[in-house]
Amino acid sequence: MPTVEDICSAMQSIAPLELAAEWDNVGLLLGESAQSVTRLMTTLTLSTTTVQEAIDRSASMVIAHHPLPFRPLKTITDASYYGGLVWKLASRSIAVYSPHTAWDSAKAGINQQLAELLGLQAIAPLEPTSIEGLEGCGTGRFGVVREDVHLAGFCEQVAAGIPDARTRTVDAGKKIRKVAIACGSGGSFLSAARRAGCDTLLTGEATYHDCLEAQAAGVNLVLVGHHASERFSLEVLARRLSGQFSDVECWASANEFDPVQAVRSASTS
Ligand SMILES: [Zn+2]
Repeated sequence: MPTVEDICSAMQSIAPLELAAEWDNVGLLLGESAQSVTRLMTTLTLSTTTVQEAIDRSASMVIAHHPLPFRPLKTITDASYYGGLVWKLASRSIAVYSPHTAWDSAKAGINQQLAELLGLQAIAPLEPTSIEGLEGCGTGRFGVVREDVHLAGFCEQVAAGIPDARTRTVDAGKKIRKVAIACGSGGSFLSAARRAGCDTLLTGEATYHDCLEAQAAGVNLVLVGHHASERFSLEVLARRLSGQFSDVECWASANEFDPVQAVRSASTS
């Protein structure tokens, strides 16, 4: 039976922690290295819903893309949202591991998977890492589309390729040929996208001011939603770990949902 430490080692091969951003909080964030792992859940984010699922389905460990805790906690009590979640997990001996920006930047990580889902060619990191032994890894990705396409046509490909994409766009008037990819909140990748000569940046979400800047810079923005830009990769991760650890039951959270929803008409008949 693998231990928490064995799962951490497997995760280190999949998403080396050296790739994580300096500001990030990654690795084993909660738990005991020697504890056995029989049931492992992956999730994008630990929330009231996903923590409850981990408890109800007796998970021994959770791999949560977004770190919990992220910022230091002075108290671990249910008086705060995050303190309450950490307490629930700790009191049920559920370990938590977060790969976050290491998984974004890994060789077969989220950005690479997104670029492949969109069928991009000649995929390379937007900002390659200089860490020895980790060639081919780095933040973001960019690549070229098989055939130049207008924004509306590209959005159809996005809808077909990325599950649950809720696409919004900033049309900078360019045909789409070279696309930069940054999962999550990737507005800050605009300058890297421009340096790579991209006409389009696809990300989860961006601020209003990022949108104005993109338009002024002549770079189309394609915003698919933070959740949609990352969540699919936790299904991939669960399958990968399941293949590696045949005696562990691995699953991607079934109850997780995108908290951002479009307004539904109140007058449905
Ligand atoms: Zn994210």
